[in-house]
Amino acid sequence: MTKILAVNAGSSSLKYQLLEMPSQEVITIGLVERIGFEDAIFNISFNGKKTETIQPILNHSVAVQLLLEALLDLKIVASYEEIAGVGHRVVHGGEKFSKSVVVTDEVLKELEVLSELAPLHNPANITGIKAFQEKLPNAVAVAVFDTAFHQTMEKDAYLYPLRYDLYEKFGVRKYGFHGTSHQYVAERAIDMLGKPAEDTKIITVHIGNGGSLAAVKGGRSIDTTMGFTPLAGIMMGTRSGDVDPAVIPFIMEKEGIDVAAAVNIFNKESGLTGVSGLSSDMRDIINAKDSGNEQAKTAFNLFTKRIADYIGSYYISLEGADAIVFTAGIGENSAPVREAVMGRLKILGIDINQEANQKRGEELLISTPESKVKVFVIPTNEELMIAKDTYAFVK
Ligand code: ADP
Repeated sequence: MTKILAVNAGSSSLKYQLLEMPSQEVITIGLVERIGFEDAIFNISFNGKKTETIQPILNHSVAVQLLLEALLDLKIVASYEEIAGVGHRVVHGGEKFSKSVVVTDEVLKELEVLSELAPLHNPANITGIKAFQEKLPNAVAVAVFDTAFHQTMEKDAYLYPLRYDLYEKFGVRKYGFHGTSHQYVAERAIDMLGKPAEDTKIITVHIGNGGSLAAVKGGRSIDTTMGFTPLAGIMMGTRSGDVDPAVIPFIMEKEGIDVAAAVNIFNKESGLTGVSGLSSDMRDIINAKDSGNEQAKTAFNLFTKRIADYIGSYYISLEGADAIVFTAGIGENSAPVREAVMGRLKILGIDINQEANQKRGEELLISTPESKVKVFVIPTNEELMIAKDTYAFVK
């Protein structure tokens, strides 16, 4: 029996799952929120029972200590030696990491250098890694990167048409994110297609609060919509996605704001929130649209058009497609979004089974047998990917 912890550390949060490998059984799952505050929230679910406590948790090290104590108290583990590995989600691996790696001092140094490219994420991920190393020095620590899956992109997909030295000096290029999710659902779709993996062409559509698409050929990412940062690509909950870059200095001048305030507009005040003026949550947008709110309708239409346009573009890049896969919060749950996106793609011979499209919470084929492209809904499972990669090193 080998137990693996899959960890996703944010600046003030820590999501975790303990899995039994290789059986992939999820033993316990939980979340620590508001780390750094007197009223932090610690929760753990085990045997169908969720326990939540509010207490001061002033740093990640304390959060990890609490988690480990809870694992002993609840008799989830008899000793910490049972936890053979800890897999960490790391947002940015730059050009350095094209697959998961065991965390060494050398790797930690690299991650610190890469913090420049992901200042909001990598430092938090590093804090999480160090906190677990301190408490579980014998467990194998593994870094699993959001960018790694997209490192197979060719130069013509990842390079921006900018002055070349900006790429050479600063690494300004497309990296892409959500790689663990795109890879997981693409692999599931390859299984479901039942043809040799190297012959498959799949478009994965990960739409949650953040969102991105990937074009996956023979199991490898050849293009994706997010870019140098997770701001690019499709419209998201609060992020704009692609806009003319000249809009940024124009707004800064008109509104008399600095760079940070401008970035805030594009990251936090745009997307569904910005256009609708209502909410970043797709459920609210759909409710408002259905009761006649015009701005909500505009937001919905922009959102679905931008996804459909990228699917069209990737259909060309891939020279066809065997399958389109919807995943993440909106992709897995929102029949109206899937229907609207697919409705814009009739030219590709896509035909949706309306009844199947209404279901959720499971892996589904939602296209008809006549459809020229299969359309799947596949719940994503980044934690399982992290656990698998970690287990591979533990073995
Ligand atoms: P994150 O990117 O933060 O991981 P999720 O993948 O959990 O986000 O997706 C969260 C989003 O999923 C919510 O903002 C909400 O808009 C959307 N969502 C969840 N359930 C539904 C639903 N039934 N219908 C439409 N949207 C939904």
